[in-house]
Amino acid sequence: MTDSQYKLWSFHGGLHLPGHKKMSTGQPIGKYFIPERLILPLQQNIGEPSEPIVSEGEYVLKGQLIARANGYISAPLHAPTSGTVSEITEQLIPHPSGLAATCIIIKSDGLDKWVQLSPHASYENMDPSALRNRIRDAGIVGLGGAGFPSFIKLNPGSRTSIDELVINAAECEPYITCDDMLMREHADEIIQGTLIMQHALHARQCLIGVEDDKPEALKVMSDAVKRLGHGQIKILAIPTLYPTGGEKQIIKVLTGKEAPSQGLPLDTGTVCHNVGTAAAVYQAVIHGRPLVSRIITLTGQGIKTPGNHEVLIGTPVNEFIEHNGGYHNRIGKLIMGGPMMGISLASDLVPVIKTTNCLLGQTQQEATDNNTVMPCIRCGACMDACPVNLLPQQLYWYAFARDMDKIQDYNLFDCIECGCCCYVCPSNIPLVQYYRFAKTEIWAQEREKKKSDRARNRHEFRLERLEKQKKERGERLRKKKAALNKSKSTDKKDNDKQQAIAAALTRVREKQKQHSVISKNTDNLTADQKKKIEDADKRRQQNNNEKVPSEEDSDS
Ligand code: SF4
Ligand code: SF4
Repeated sequence: MTDSQYKLWSFHGGLHLPGHKKMSTGQPIGKYFIPERLILPLQQNIGEPSEPIVSEGEYVLKGQLIARANGYISAPLHAPTSGTVSEITEQLIPHPSGLAATCIIIKSDGLDKWVQLSPHASYENMDPSALRNRIRDAGIVGLGGAGFPSFIKLNPGSRTSIDELVINAAECEPYITCDDMLMREHADEIIQGTLIMQHALHARQCLIGVEDDKPEALKVMSDAVKRLGHGQIKILAIPTLYPTGGEKQIIKVLTGKEAPSQGLPLDTGTVCHNVGTAAAVYQAVIHGRPLVSRIITLTGQGIKTPGNHEVLIGTPVNEFIEHNGGYHNRIGKLIMGGPMMGISLASDLVPVIKTTNCLLGQTQQEATDNNTVMPCIRCGACMDACPVNLLPQQLYWYAFARDMDKIQDYNLFDCIECGCCCYVCPSNIPLVQYYRFAKTEIWAQEREKKKSDRARNRHEFRLERLEKQKKERGERLRKKKAALNKSKSTDKKDNDKQQAIAAALTRVREKQKQHSVISKNTDNLTADQKKKIEDADKRRQQNNNEKVPSEEDSDS
């Protein structure tokens, strides 16, 4: 049973909306069918699109990697069935722009033959980073509709552990029942996936929040926790109020914590994952199966046989609807997602992608109801309904005036686009469209700014480099000149020295010459004078012989 003693909190605003849920929960989840052709957009997640690693004509098996992640915030893509890659080309994708983007097209062979998988029966001994890698390699993204790569949110970052892992099973938007049916039929997988995520995050406690309009799901989930959860998981029935399924709203309801403006739940020690993501994590870790299919709610007054079905990713929407009963009368509007936050599809020739949780067919009457837009009467109803405590009429005013600075001062980026303000607006102003427009404008401006900043940085870097080169060249030139001057002065010094030596030698020679001239005063002597000199020399010689003792004399 659920924990009735557990204290719950509430958030500002919100709406009690008619659920319209019963129409799609009457029968079990239908099994997937294999369409002839699967269309796989490379962009199926928040972040960078994946990068194809297969070529046209290549045969692929179910679960085989066909496009790898391109960067950290990106997710790989796997073949949803076996067949041949027939094309890699531009195709319409489910996007508000209604534009085309690159897709891998697989022509199925009908055999649905799996690639060799590597199951891992026990996760308890696996390192958290190994678990994250396995979840990343399986291409799992948030299946609640956001599409953020799940492995990133399983990294506690600089924290060694987190306080709470919150599993979002609120499914608050009208008409959508895929999480409800998943819980009813696959509760054990969800609980085991939750335990794996708790292990990866070292989460101290784990809280699963289910809105109280899903009594069957609450019961089977509680039973599954008793069987598998070892008391580590709390199943909590929370009041049915739109948009409790918003990440920040469910965290507030279950923990009382509020993430800072433009901050992350992780900033408050909490991580939140969708219940469908938990089941996909179980499949990836325990059975080694990548994300190749998901449960989708097919519903609305415009659909003949509403229900929930497992669908291969890449299945064309028109074929899926046709296969499951088709449209009822003339369809007015086809929405991917719910009536509050979904996107209106311009065509049903687009494929189902990883984030497709619902296809809602509205009749022409539903689609055209209340669409006469009138001026804002400043009634303040939008402000009262806003679950984020924003001032929607101010945001509208600044978006209308294209004042992108002012609108950010009013925390535009905290807006979760829940649509509560539009729903209550008596003037039928499509407020969320204005907010989306403003966000897109600001992102475009930021991209432009980043581009021009990069260009300016490149230019400044080039100027700096040229200046540096100029300085270095000048310095080299200066050094060369100095070296040249130095060698010239050395040469001069050597020269001076040489000249001084030559002058000294000349002086010596001059002196010698003078001496030899002086000695000439013995020339032209008379015979008598010569005789006297000879006698004097003899005497001197004799004296010298007598005065100088021999070596023998000194020894004796
Ligand atoms: S609810 Fe509509 S009319 Fe009322 S203040 Fe908000 S935007 Fe204006
Ligand atoms: S769409 Fe944005 S502004 Fe409007 S109620 Fe929701 S959070 Fe508030």
